[in-house]
Amino acid sequence: MEETKLLDTLKEYFGYDSFRPLQKTIVDSVFEGKDNLVIMPTGGGKSICFQLPAILLPQITLVISPLIALMKDQVDGLTANGVPAAFLNSSQSETEQQEIFQQIDTNHLKLLYVAPESLQVIDRFLSDGKVSLIAIDEAHCISSWGHDFRPAYTQLGYLKNRFPSTPIIALTATADKATRKDICNQLNIPNAKKHIASFDRKNLSLDVRPGIKRFEQIQDFIENRENESGIIYCLSRKTTEEIASKLKAAGIKAEAYHAGIGHDERTKIQDDFINDTKQIICATIAFGMGIDKSNIRWVIHYNMPKNLEGYYQEIGRAGRDGLPSDTMLFHSYADVLQLQKFASNSGNEDVQLAKLDRMKQYSEALTCRRKILLSYFGELKQEDCGNCDICRNPPKFFDGTIIAQKALSCIYRLKGKEPISVIIDVLRGAQNEAVLQKNYNQLSTYGIAKDISWRDLQQYIIQLINIGYVEIAFHKHNHLQLTPLAKNVLFENAKVQLAHIPDQKEIQETREKKSQKSDNSLFEKLRQLRLKLAKEEDIPAYLIFNDATLKEMEKQRPMTDEDFMAINGVGQKKMQDYGYQFIKEIIAFSKEKREKKKSKKGNTHKVTYELYKEGLSVEEISKKRELASTTVYSHLAKLYADGKDIDLNKFLTKADLDAVKKARVELEDPKTLKPYYEHFNEALDYWTIRFALTVLEKEEN
Ligand SMILES: [Zn+2]
Repeated sequence: MEETKLLDTLKEYFGYDSFRPLQKTIVDSVFEGKDNLVIMPTGGGKSICFQLPAILLPQITLVISPLIALMKDQVDGLTANGVPAAFLNSSQSETEQQEIFQQIDTNHLKLLYVAPESLQVIDRFLSDGKVSLIAIDEAHCISSWGHDFRPAYTQLGYLKNRFPSTPIIALTATADKATRKDICNQLNIPNAKKHIASFDRKNLSLDVRPGIKRFEQIQDFIENRENESGIIYCLSRKTTEEIASKLKAAGIKAEAYHAGIGHDERTKIQDDFINDTKQIICATIAFGMGIDKSNIRWVIHYNMPKNLEGYYQEIGRAGRDGLPSDTMLFHSYADVLQLQKFASNSGNEDVQLAKLDRMKQYSEALTCRRKILLSYFGELKQEDCGNCDICRNPPKFFDGTIIAQKALSCIYRLKGKEPISVIIDVLRGAQNEAVLQKNYNQLSTYGIAKDISWRDLQQYIIQLINIGYVEIAFHKHNHLQLTPLAKNVLFENAKVQLAHIPDQKEIQETREKKSQKSDNSLFEKLRQLRLKLAKEEDIPAYLIFNDATLKEMEKQRPMTDEDFMAINGVGQKKMQDYGYQFIKEIIAFSKEKREKKKSKKGNTHKVTYELYKEGLSVEEISKKRELASTTVYSHLAKLYADGKDIDLNKFLTKADLDAVKKARVELEDPKTLKPYYEHFNEALDYWTIRFALTVLEKEEN
């Protein structure tokens, strides 16, 4: 397929001027008739890889998708772009299905989305040669290695036998090596070309914090994010409800979402979120699968997830439109213990515990988090990312030998028979029952670290665990025990470097202050228009235009059809459907802005005039108003021309006036100021010349 044809189609139907990384290679490979396996992170532009060929191929493209919600979303999106598409699943009535069969028969559809269970239903309408392409979305569902295994997917292997001449494209956002191989085997496409995109989502900031005062931190976080959609993931249903009701009490449009809520209500909550009616969802991990909302601006993990795959998938729901989005993970010692318990009760304890360990290492890391995350997915990065909390605020190390010696000897005195909380209590000289009952107040280590706060001491001990001096005996009530390495510190005076623990205030101060979004911005105006149109048409707002497209409109301010078409995300159909209204809004906004500027300008002259009346010199006025002195001069000239009582002589010396008078004769009264300026070899500035001429003219009249 010719490149210009591809690019024209990309612009016409999807509104993009260029392909994103890998898309072109994949599309080319599809047109060559090859089978393809595409591993691309959420938000990397996977769908274009089969939707674009589908538009150009002669026959229908079948898309196998596991979730009804996802299907509907994609079909709505395609329809909004003017692409004939439909979906078929068990939720439809017979009449609805008949209609679709007819469209297949008459070759009216470009794409048909099908659940694997419904494949049999359409079998009789299709034969080899009648299907141009088969796309299998969320392909990891076919593999029991993957984390979302779906039994119905395993029958998809027959497709290659049924349609031997039709290329297959399998797509997924997460797949480790074992899963990739399994997908190709099960689909009978062992020679599929593999396209593995980078998993790096540069637009997502990464932030990890100790789980202390979580709700207060969340409140601070969302304070600057008015109207921005976000998800808060929690470990338990109870927590989701607690946080949602606290947020509601604070006047924020939040809702809890978990598997215990009835189906209808869950659908409603999800719709409200998608349509921007609800701002925040507090959810268990049940939420988010199959949601294609592109403008989720942030994701918070209230609790630590059980592995990095889940974590990455969940934060990956933010910023699919490619705009900067934030993620925040709270980790706590209690979460780790809880998750360890879950892992021990699961079928494959060793794997689960190993995965949890990697999650924990990530949370407690003291080096660039993105590097750790990407290396987990097999991608090695040389450079630090600059967009994680560690990069923004690198840990400061200090000689922590004495703190380490105190903590380690306390663990030693307690004979490895107490959990971290009791160790901290003893070190801080607490008077509680756990300490007094066992006479720990008699120990030599009792109270030797009173000067350190409970929280800091806990963090230091966690660092000692990470360095390898201490281990947690998970199967013995989580007691802390010394490792052989601890000897070096206790008896051989080995030095220990600990990382300084910043307090929340420090973190807050170093964080870049997010620019306050004003309700008066063009973006907000366009967002409101989009919301209004979405309500009228009863479709999700982002199907009209996504946030990235609105942002570009705000920046470029297109006021003609041609300029509007040049915006990324505006295709032919959207131009026809919405162009007029959006352009109208942009023009109205720009006009309003211009008028405001005008009136502001009027004001600025007035201020200068008032200061002038008070007797201030040009230098004084310019200093006071933080304006260039030439600006002040221009104000005065304008005021003078407007008939205000300004004595220009005040700004001229007799010598200046005489010099200009003489020059005017010599230069034969030129019409512009430049000859004067050059005549004086730039020794007199424009304003002096201009004022002098004005005064001379007045004298002469
Ligand atoms: Zn980093």
